[in-house]
Amino acid sequence: MASSSSIRIVIVGDVHDCWNFEQDSKALQFLQPDLVLFTGDFGEENLEVVRSVANIQFAKAVILGNHDCWSTKKFSRSEKDKDKVQLQLECLGKEHVAYERLDLPLIQVSVVGGRPFSVGGKSLFRNKLLSARYGVKDMDGSAKKIQKAALGTPEDHFLILLAHNGPTGLGSGLNDICGKDWELDGGDHGDPDLECAISLLKENNQISIPLVVFGHMHKELAHDNGFRKMIVVGTDNTIYLNGAIVPRVKSFGDDNKRSLDDESSLSSPEAKGTARAFTLVELSKGRVTRVAESWVSVVEDKTTLKEEHILFEGN
Ligand SMILES: [Zn+2]
Repeated sequence: MASSSSIRIVIVGDVHDCWNFEQDSKALQFLQPDLVLFTGDFGEENLEVVRSVANIQFAKAVILGNHDCWSTKKFSRSEKDKDKVQLQLECLGKEHVAYERLDLPLIQVSVVGGRPFSVGGKSLFRNKLLSARYGVKDMDGSAKKIQKAALGTPEDHFLILLAHNGPTGLGSGLNDICGKDWELDGGDHGDPDLECAISLLKENNQISIPLVVFGHMHKELAHDNGFRKMIVVGTDNTIYLNGAIVPRVKSFGDDNKRSLDDESSLSSPEAKGTARAFTLVELSKGRVTRVAESWVSVVEDKTTLKEEHILFEGN
């Protein structure tokens, strides 16, 4: 795509097993992304979903979440009997961007990955995985590694930070973008290393960070407390965007009438159609012009835009 036209980035928030290769491919074909970003939590080490995601025919970048290492605390030493974290990483290859930068010169975009497997909050989650694979032992080391990956981003590229959880510093109310919705008084549950990396990069105008994308903190709040703020525009115009619309798939039709022996019949949810959630970001001339939560309806071969909520419009 020529650099002068607009660029379309589609975010698939925390999947939590809601993924179907055919239906999601149809929905993505409808949305026509130049790049697809996945915020992780595919399932509880759901290798099948990760394999299927790795096979979609679009440019993509992925970060694994805490659910993607649900039961693996350290890498297995055996080559023959690999653990599922290792297998997921092998499936994704360079498209898993943890502490790395993926440059996409055709659209002049670079994606830098944050710390994988994050569960949010003050301490590192899955220390042994982080230190074995990335040599990261503490928050400070993690922040510096993210910073290092971002330095060297080509000057004319639009930089996106992709993490499983967002940074600290964006509010501590229970409906804030990284707020603890499960505690009455809320609390900031962001990643301190990500906030630190962003401020290191902004120091002395080392690099500009127009967009930070993450998931983990679901849109629907615990205890029926309504919905989370999914976008924050920082004072320096950095856009922080949470894509975790969970569950991301709604089935049409009458689920009550389904019985076990109906599974393979035409009454399966896929046959009646589904609505699938994505977050769309449009860029033009190096700026975000529009962000929307979009639900695409897929009924057999027919795809339509079912619902759209504008989260941001720039000029
Ligand atoms: Zn998570």
